[in-house]
Amino acid sequence: MADSIRDTVILGSGCSGLTAALYAARANLKPLVIEGHEPGGQLSLTTLVENFPGFPEGIQGPELIENMKKQAARFGAEYQTGHLVSADLSQRPFTLNLGKETIQTRTLIIASGASARWLGLPNEQALIGHGVSSCATCDGFFFSGKPVVVVGGGDSAMEEALFLTRFATEVALIHRRNEFRASKIMLDRAQKHEKIKFITPAVVEDVFDVAKKEVTGVKLRDPKSGRTWDHPTGALFLGIGHIPNAKMFAGQLDMDDEGYLKTRDYVFTRVPGVFASGDVSDRRYRQAVTAAGTGCMAAMEVEKFLEEQGR
Ligand code: NAP
Repeated sequence: MADSIRDTVILGSGCSGLTAALYAARANLKPLVIEGHEPGGQLSLTTLVENFPGFPEGIQGPELIENMKKQAARFGAEYQTGHLVSADLSQRPFTLNLGKETIQTRTLIIASGASARWLGLPNEQALIGHGVSSCATCDGFFFSGKPVVVVGGGDSAMEEALFLTRFATEVALIHRRNEFRASKIMLDRAQKHEKIKFITPAVVEDVFDVAKKEVTGVKLRDPKSGRTWDHPTGALFLGIGHIPNAKMFAGQLDMDDEGYLKTRDYVFTRVPGVFASGDVSDRRYRQAVTAAGTGCMAAMEVEKFLEEQGR
């Protein structure tokens, strides 16, 4: 029985989980990575990544992830498809229920990330990576010299719109209401920017053009009058929030009011032996490099924890 207990299990195979896997594998802990429902995480949804240090020409997101996966595997990390249904963190070893099987582990790194909230438009998923994006920092540059659209009324949308003014000829900010959640300062800044045009209230009904494999426009609807019209654009950026993948720990770990895991000293949760890294506990930075950084920290804490437990 003792042999079937893992030293560490990592939930999530994005940038944070794979960095944790690399460090844990090099510490001889034979980590098991549960790949989750979005293997590779958000990087696997982007195209060229130009802000990950070490790649002067940039690197494709999926390639970066594949490299990280191979690198950790070289030192003994193991991968398993599947996602967590429930977990019992009340006693050690912890028990993870993956539906078809249960796994026991002495430590756990939660690197399950946050998923971008999408609008659910008929053509949206088909155009992700071809003009539909949830990350202006990642993809804004590709739309230099074109008009773009940003959807949302919170700080993320304002921040994305302001960032995109560096590249785009015009940024249309589309929000379903005339009132905004954004902080006054961010809203003011966006409203005063000469390149940003507000279209409110307006709801995005769909995005075109799947046949051309690029975004050429969006269909908008005025929620008050019901009138619809087409708005030409080169890209559709969503700034409507992220959803942390942490629901399965409700009641067992501390979360903030939006469901992000609360940590102290970067990666410690309130349960000894359970660590959190990457976007599941980061509502502020959300970058590949910061996710990798906290993944490294979590693996180093796992090693220390096991050592203290006499492993
Ligand atoms: P948020 O404040 O929850 O705003 C999300 C926006 O998206 C809302 O305006 C919401 O509209 C809209 N939205 C949600 N679902 C939608 C849908 N299905 N269709 C159309 N619109 C939809 O999220 P956030 O902007 O990501 O911010 C999250 C937190 O991070 C906030 O606390 C924010 O202050 C913080 N943040 C801070 C900064 C900064 O200070 N630099 C930058 C980014 C984020 P409704 O208003 O109509 O619900």
